[in-house]
Amino acid sequence: MTKVMIHPATYENVRQAVDRAFEIFPVDVQGKKALIKPNVLRASQASEAIVTNPQVLRAVVEKVETLRPASLIVGDNPGLFNYGANEECFRMTGLLEASKGYYLNIGNDSQKLDFNPDFMPAVSVSRSVLDADVIISLPKFKTHGLTVMTGAIKNCYGFLPGAQKAKLHKAAGNPERFHEVIVDVFRLRPPDLFIVDAVVGMEGNGPASPDLRNIGLVLASDNAVALDAVIATMMGCDPARLRFLQKAKDEGLGDYDLKKIELIGELKPIRDFKLPPLGGEAIIRNENIQAVIHSRTILRPQVEPDLCTACETCVDQCAVSALSMDNGLPVVDADTCITCFCCQEMCPEKAITLK
Ligand code: SF4
Ligand code: SF4
Repeated sequence: MTKVMIHPATYENVRQAVDRAFEIFPVDVQGKKALIKPNVLRASQASEAIVTNPQVLRAVVEKVETLRPASLIVGDNPGLFNYGANEECFRMTGLLEASKGYYLNIGNDSQKLDFNPDFMPAVSVSRSVLDADVIISLPKFKTHGLTVMTGAIKNCYGFLPGAQKAKLHKAAGNPERFHEVIVDVFRLRPPDLFIVDAVVGMEGNGPASPDLRNIGLVLASDNAVALDAVIATMMGCDPARLRFLQKAKDEGLGDYDLKKIELIGELKPIRDFKLPPLGGEAIIRNENIQAVIHSRTILRPQVEPDLCTACETCVDQCAVSALSMDNGLPVVDADTCITCFCCQEMCPEKAITLK
C-alpha cells in the first residue's frame, strides 16, 4: 500500500518533518548522484510563496548531506516569465543561498528524448535529471489555473529547459490535454521522493496568487499519484475529477483512491479553501496569458555581430545542434531550435539574445 506522510511543521522546525520523511521513505543516496528539485516558478520573494520555501530546501539539502551522496545538485528550470534567468530566480527567492553551494543551472545541458507525438515528437530534458540516480522533488502546495493544483506530478514540468514548456502549453491547446502533457513529462523520469512545502500554501488563482494560507504541514511520499490525491482532497477537490490523476492511474503510475493509501498523519480538508476559477478556462480565455505563451514559442536566438568573437561556445553547447557557423557567425536552424536559452546563458560575450 502506498503511504503519504502528513506532518505538522513550521519553517523554523521543518527539519523534523524532513527527517521523518526520510525515515518513512528511506532513499538510498550513499555514493549516488542526487538531484534536489524545488519548485522555482519565477523570480519572487520567498514570502510570496510562489516557490518552495528556502527553509524547506535547506533542511533537505542538509539531510541529504548526511547521507553521503557521491554528488549533489540543486536545480530547476523556471517558468514562462523567467526563461534564461535561472540563477536570478534562485538568488531572488533565497533558494541559491539555501542550496549551500550545490546549485547548478540545469538548463545549460540537456538531452533529447522521444515524446508523445500527439504533442511534440521529442523534448529535451535537463541532463542532470537524466543522470541522477536519486531525485528528490520539493513541490509547493499551490493551486494552478490550468491543472487546479500543482503538486508532485506538475513539479516535474520543470525538467524541461526553456520555452519548450510554452510550446507544449500551446500544443496542448486546452486544459484537458495539458493535464495529459504533464503526465507525459512526469513519466520521463519520475522522482524517487517528494517532500511538499505545505507550511504556507496558496489558494485562489495560482500558481502566483496573492491568496496564501497558513497550513502548517509538510507532506511526503514516494508515490506522486497518492500524494497529489491527498493534496487535492485537502483543497476540497475530488481527486477522481482531475484528468492528470486519471491518466496517471490508467498508466499504472499509482492510485488516487484514498482507501488504497496509508495515511501517516491526519488528512483534513482545509476549510473554505478557494480553488481556481473555471477549471482552466480562465487561463485559456485570458488573452494576455495566451499572448505571453505565444511570444515565448516564437523566440529564436539572434547574434549581435559586433559582440561575437566566433568562439563557437554556443555551437558546441547547443544540445540539439541547432547552431552552426556561417561566415564567422553562428546561425540558427529555427526548426531544430528548442528555445532552451542555453546559448544566451553560455555566451561569454553576451552576444546572443532571444528575439
Ligand atoms: S558563444 Fe557568443 S561569442 Fe561565442 S560564437 Fe557564440 S555568439 Fe559568438
Ligand atoms: S540554438 Fe540556443 S536556444 Fe536554440 S536549442 Fe540551441 S542552445 Fe537552445
